[in-house]
Amino acid sequence: MNIILLGAPGAGKGTQASKIVEEYKLPHISTGDIFRANIQAETPIGVIAKFHIDQGHLVPDDVTCEIVEERLAQDDCKQRGYLLDGFPRTIPQAEMLDGIEKIDAVININVDTSLLMDRLCGRRVCSSCKESYHVSRLNGATTCEKCGGELFQRKDDNPETVASRLQVYTAQTAPLIDYYTKKGVIVNVHGNASPDEVFAEIREKLDVLKK
Ligand SMILES: [Zn+2]
Repeated sequence: MNIILLGAPGAGKGTQASKIVEEYKLPHISTGDIFRANIQAETPIGVIAKFHIDQGHLVPDDVTCEIVEERLAQDDCKQRGYLLDGFPRTIPQAEMLDGIEKIDAVININVDTSLLMDRLCGRRVCSSCKESYHVSRLNGATTCEKCGGELFQRKDDNPETVASRLQVYTAQTAPLIDYYTKKGVIVNVHGNASPDEVFAEIREKLDVLKK
């Protein structure tokens, strides 16, 4: 199965992606992870990506498409299918993808905006294992309960940047929902619920598609 995962920042995409790839044994293709690795290594693509991300903008289509196309051409994706996370984000990206791949399902996680703001601005991430927590459930703790690593707030999780990220998402990515709805592959999921409840809905709907 070739699956795309859609959802605003803070919609729980990362959590659901982990559950989906484990359940269906799919490679997890996260453009965010690929970019972060490039930024850390200060590659030419990483430098371009950082410039745009720091301003709360998306990375340009040509850069992103090149990275994705190269990754989907590898053996694991050809054999098993994949879960695409963070791509496509624009109609031109979706059209490019349609030119090279057949997409079976586009999972769209819907979460209320006020809940997204609260989740993102209150998020604390472990510097070691990357587990994320919400500040309201930490009781003042500053270290990760899984590995003891130091918790920090991501630079782009402040209210101003979060508002900008959500606006960018709505303006540029929401049209994709129309695009894939018209193609008949959209799978809408209620994302306000707990991670396990959200995943149960995803699995139920994907299993119907597989039959
Ligand atoms: Zn940790």
